[in-house]
Amino acid sequence: MGWRVLVPDAVVAAVKAEAEAAYPYECCGFLLGPDGGASPRAATEMIAVKNEREGDPARRRFAIGPADFLAAEREAEAQGLDVVGIYHSHPDHPAAPSGTDLEQAFPWYTYIIVAVDKGAAGEVTAWRLAGNRGAFEPEEIEVTP
Ligand SMILES: [Zn+2]
Repeated sequence: MGWRVLVPDAVVAAVKAEAEAAYPYECCGFLLGPDGGASPRAATEMIAVKNEREGDPARRRFAIGPADFLAAEREAEAQGLDVVGIYHSHPDHPAAPSGTDLEQAFPWYTYIIVAVDKGAAGEVTAWRLAGNRGAFEPEEIEVTP
């Protein structure tokens, strides 16, 4: 059975806005939800974080610092939520995971990718690592009101 994640329209819009603001660089941040183990999972909040990759490399990759990860975990806990995923953008690139994305990915989390074409956010996709960590499997996004 395939993965599925429920994302409110407002969160999709906020992620797209971040992606457009960061263009031509990649944006990145966290997705929070009420129950990370639920199926389908829900990602009800987002937290934008600084892309630690400065300058030109940030066009093609993103990095989240350990302090931001810890802060997101604390923020989630304070709201009674879990960190359920990570989003980032692909400026002028399809919304499919790169080799670097695969290398950097952790199991369990939902990875949302938003394509930005000439500054305008486009396709939004979601992915999870397969059990053996060797590949991403697509996760269906259901946009909720
Ligand atoms: Zn990527």
